[in-house]
Amino acid sequence: MLTRSKHGANFMGDRTFDILLDIHHGLPRQGPGDDMCTRRALAMFDGLPAAPDVLDVGCGPGMQTLALAEALGSEVTAVDIFDVFLDELRDRAQERGLDAMVHPVKASMDAMPFADASFDLIWAEGSAYVMGVGEALQAWRPLLRDGGCIAFTEMVWLVDEPPAEAASFFGQEYPAMTDVPTNLQLIRDAGYEVVGHFTLPDSAWWDNYYAPLEARLPEMRRKYADDPQGLDMIAASQREIDVRRQFPDAYGYEFFVAKSTYMT
Ligand code: SAM
Repeated sequence: MLTRSKHGANFMGDRTFDILLDIHHGLPRQGPGDDMCTRRALAMFDGLPAAPDVLDVGCGPGMQTLALAEALGSEVTAVDIFDVFLDELRDRAQERGLDAMVHPVKASMDAMPFADASFDLIWAEGSAYVMGVGEALQAWRPLLRDGGCIAFTEMVWLVDEPPAEAASFFGQEYPAMTDVPTNLQLIRDAGYEVVGHFTLPDSAWWDNYYAPLEARLPEMRRKYADDPQGLDMIAASQREIDVRRQFPDAYGYEFFVAKSTYMT
């Protein structure tokens, strides 16, 4: 769900966001990812405490929230700004028998209602971009206990000279997009050491995200047939999917795994 919002909350009540949520709700995920990648990133940490306290920021419908609760056997606090996603997470947690372990919280990621040193692990798949990676890493670090861990995914350029059409699309949609080395430097500058990173496979874009999104666009076109704003937004979603189909090697989603070097 690409938005040019810096903090999401600015768009609450905006019709643009109502339509965007209508197009997007009910999908397995709200961004690229899959359980295999979540588990692969988790396995990169050594020294996590048994049953760590976990915070999942920008959880969306919570595929990774449930994967974390299951893999770690621990409680996960899951934050999102939209009720529709928190409700989906609640339903899915209940279906999987994980509702006692998952705690959905409605809050904005730049003002989360938690005391310092509340968590051992912060997770953020496809959400740090809302604040900006450097800003998010710095703002969230006090929430971690000494030596706490963080994992996040971020869209990055994978080539030095992206094709002009992809560069032009993301120049509009995500002008702040950088590359892997820049993100690694942001991680170090924010007081973490890099544990590792990897690029999500192309299947992680399609299986849980673009394929189900694209499948619902015809129904959305019928629903918004007399609504030029809705049709524009549906066309923008289709364009985003088409760009991915055309330029899968130019950009990707990178999983970054890091450990806070901060000690009190
Ligand atoms: N982590 C989920 C996933 O991978 O499926 C969702 C990723 S989606 C790209 C970004 C999520 O961040 C959305 O669920 C959106 O509602 C949430 N979000 C946007 N702005 C936010 C904010 N200011 N505070 C908290 N969550 C926000």
